[in-house]
Amino acid sequence: MMTTDTAAPVSQPFQAEVAELLNLMVHSYSETDIFLRELVSNASDACDKLRYEAIANPQLAPEGQSPNITIIPDKEANTLTIVDTGIGMDRQELIDNLGTIAKSGTKSFLSRLTEAKDGAGLIGQFGVGFYAAFMVADKIVVTSRRAGTHDAFTWTSTGGAGFEIAQLNDGMSVPAGTSIALHLKDDAKKYLESWEIERIVTSYSDNIQFPIMLKAGDGEPKQINSASALWQRSKSELTPEDYSKAYKSIANAYDEPAMTLHYRAEGRYSYAVLLFAPASKPFDLFEPERKGRVKLYVRRVFITDEADLLPSYLRFIRGVIDAEDLPLNLSREMLQNNPQLAHIKKAVATRVVGEFETLAEKDAETFTKIWDAFGPVLKEGIYEDFERREKLLALSRFTTTSGDKRTLKQYVADLKPNQTEIYYLAGDSLERLKSNPKLEAAKSRGIEVLLLSDAVDAFWTSAPLEFEGKPLKSLSQGEVNLELVPLVEDDNKDEPKPDAADEASTIAVIKDALGERVSDVKASTRLTTSASCLVAGGRGPDRELEKMLAMQNRGTVTKPILEINLRHPLVAKIASADKAEGGEAADIAFLLLEQAQILDGELPEDPAAFATRLNRLVLRGL
Ligand code: ADP
Ligand code: MG
Repeated sequence: MMTTDTAAPVSQPFQAEVAELLNLMVHSYSETDIFLRELVSNASDACDKLRYEAIANPQLAPEGQSPNITIIPDKEANTLTIVDTGIGMDRQELIDNLGTIAKSGTKSFLSRLTEAKDGAGLIGQFGVGFYAAFMVADKIVVTSRRAGTHDAFTWTSTGGAGFEIAQLNDGMSVPAGTSIALHLKDDAKKYLESWEIERIVTSYSDNIQFPIMLKAGDGEPKQINSASALWQRSKSELTPEDYSKAYKSIANAYDEPAMTLHYRAEGRYSYAVLLFAPASKPFDLFEPERKGRVKLYVRRVFITDEADLLPSYLRFIRGVIDAEDLPLNLSREMLQNNPQLAHIKKAVATRVVGEFETLAEKDAETFTKIWDAFGPVLKEGIYEDFERREKLLALSRFTTTSGDKRTLKQYVADLKPNQTEIYYLAGDSLERLKSNPKLEAAKSRGIEVLLLSDAVDAFWTSAPLEFEGKPLKSLSQGEVNLELVPLVEDDNKDEPKPDAADEASTIAVIKDALGERVSDVKASTRLTTSASCLVAGGRGPDRELEKMLAMQNRGTVTKPILEINLRHPLVAKIASADKAEGGEAADIAFLLLEQAQILDGELPEDPAAFATRLNRLVLRGL
């Protein structure tokens, strides 16, 4: 590369996270190929930005010249340089963009690194942008001039703690855009070979919209990607491999797509759609912004990837929507209010959900993969997307007391005689749910129960829901009565049923002992083997949801109802203990409350008092 005179450089430290990331890059030797893809992807973004800014400001783009990317291996200098004629960066942009971590995905990547053993494997899977170049280079020199300005700057770093910025004496001596010169490490010299560069570009970056030129030695530059807007071509021309490559370069992804949706809508509005569902979860899936990243193009010109083209519960979908009839200079406001775009968004969302339905029917295995990765996100839609609620419920797969991956359709087909409702139990661990006493009455009647353990479950179930006319009902809310459904097994058939007077007095004794700790004490119809459980009032929210909202300071937990199993021997003991001295009945009452709390995954309010009471009861028994 040409050397250029610069004014005295100024040193800058990296943001702490960048230093941490670089340290990792330097010691990472697997899957180093991805550095080139990351740099080419940045160059392509820069070309997109230039083309977009030039719509409003045509003098930014030199007459008739479409942006391009050139890769220049130089064996003598041992450098690999990636040059783009894109938007470029000014001094401040160099500092901000190449000295800090902008991507939220990268931040969560770093936080995952502490959990994962194989950091390098993770880099390969997800890519970490510009800094990946430090896997192959021990020194990087970025030279950039922002389009429309006269000053150019260099950014130089050898990894470590920081970088230097210097201004070129003659800014106009370099073309607008960015050139990134990598001084390759000894074990990365293979990246100077033309065939190696071509291999990486065709496998990862073939669908980049701009020509990628390879200029090796004294030879003429040759284009090494096909640069076709693949979504504009007809389906019949394309192979699965073409789609896989398109997915990788459009979504900047490393896995294979689990689902591909490619079609062209004609009619009132014309547009081409190429969308993919990934097969694995990205790191930022549960970021609070819940941003989608489908790219909006207008007549093959990239406009934005921040237009929220799909509802947020489909934010994991990647790809392109290319509209024919929208204006190129879409303002932010128009992105939100344009009726044509609103129509497109709606139609595409329906198409995506429809595609899931087809897949679930025709290729259940693949749909399961998508569900395993994104089920918790799709379930947000049950709550948010009233229009497609029924469809999303039908797509949902549940772990139930009868098996895994059950659908509501299967559930309804297996309803027991007289059963008119769909039952579920929500909690934070599947294991704990499986042993929850609230399942007992259902179990003794062979009734299937959905076991919901995703964080999102407490939310979507708070909407009034039904499936095929059957309401969904929580087993931890009051007013569940399963008695119309015949028993298939009865653990208590040998226990004598207490008479009504005893029942009333037992309940009174417990109420008296527990006082303000519970809102009520009732005889349970849902317990058969356990002694007690806690439920929410009939109209109140599910206890799980209450707990979660309280944890986020968005509501208070109301007092639960204690339900007791009057046929349980411990409960039966209360009547006789009440007549004895020493508060034995009160101890049993507290034990009933506290064991119910423990079974729900809570701690008794006063664990020490709990232990004392328990010990007292045990010793008395001896
Ligand atoms: P990302 O591309 O996801 O934003 P990167 O680490 O790859 O993250 O790049 C960081 C930022 O640096 C980019 O967002 C962009 O602003 C800037 N950048 C990187 N390469 C270039 C380039 N060739 N031209 C212009 N800007 C660039
Ligand atoms: Mg990037």
